[in-house]
Amino acid sequence: MKALVYTGPKVAEVLDMPAPQPKEGAVKVKMKYCGICGSDMGIYVGTHPRAKAPLILGHEFVGTVEEDGAKFKKGDRVVAYPLISCDHCLACRSGNAHVCNTLGLIGIDVDGGLCEYAYVDEDLMFKVPDGVSDKAAAVIEPLAVIVRSIHQAKMKALDVCAVIGAGPIGMITGMMLVKMGAAKVFISDVDDKKLARAAELGMIPVNVKNESLESVVKAATDGEGADITFECAGAEIAAMQVTDITRVSGMICMTSVHKYPHAVNLQGLNFKEQTMVGTRVYTKEEFRQSVEYSAQINDELEKIVSHVVSMKEAPGVFDMIADASNGTCKVLVDCQDF
Ligand SMILES: [Zn+2]
Ligand SMILES: [Zn+2]
Repeated sequence: MKALVYTGPKVAEVLDMPAPQPKEGAVKVKMKYCGICGSDMGIYVGTHPRAKAPLILGHEFVGTVEEDGAKFKKGDRVVAYPLISCDHCLACRSGNAHVCNTLGLIGIDVDGGLCEYAYVDEDLMFKVPDGVSDKAAAVIEPLAVIVRSIHQAKMKALDVCAVIGAGPIGMITGMMLVKMGAAKVFISDVDDKKLARAAELGMIPVNVKNESLESVVKAATDGEGADITFECAGAEIAAMQVTDITRVSGMICMTSVHKYPHAVNLQGLNFKEQTMVGTRVYTKEEFRQSVEYSAQINDELEKIVSHVVSMKEAPGVFDMIADASNGTCKVLVDCQDF
């Protein structure tokens, strides 16, 4: 079986791997598409704190069940909740297994879905609704990240929202805020191709090479600032700007992964009595909600997918995403195209 395997820092190879072995409670799934995530980029460059080579990458997959199981039937299209929790730490005991002390993910801590076939626990799988394309279904996992962050940020209709960073997570965040009735959604980036895609999805693009997000948001709000700022860039400079962009009593939602401690203007947070909230992956219920909602936003989810590459091209996908001139948003690998 062919699989995309991380074999060491800056090396990912398509290798012939042994056929996956049946396991209790799991059914064989023929993978169709698997998305590449920011965390996969971290694994590829060798900075991910947990991932160990050799590892089959991929946690954003959609596939078809190959055999009848206890809950699923041959031919069912499925996605999987990829989190692995311990079941007994404080987070797990108190209903927050998604922030388990030893949280793991399929495709990071154990082999993932960037392969022809895998056995997937039926307990983790959800049936993809009819009318959702395979491509759109591959975006359900990142959509769940945004559902979580919007819940954490307690977003309300007619809020003025600012999104920092127009990568896949920032893009889906903005798209969802537009759908949820935000008064305005500003999104910042340095890449005009990404910003053009954001404008198509109803956001107001701000290229921070030419103007600051803070000044544009304040010009639109009588100098007050955004009701909610979603930090989706993970960059040092973004961390320092969130308090300035956000209004008095406003909300700051840290959606992106900051891989190092970054400075924050705590005086701003203090004087403006702002609330800052963290958000990490999603609960199983939020994943289920994302599966169900995907049927209503199939066309928009497809627009998040900018590129589909074959398995043969997959080892080059990390350099492709890192090169801003390619204007990628969500890149999928076609696991059945060699
Ligand atoms: Zn991901
Ligand atoms: Zn736990």
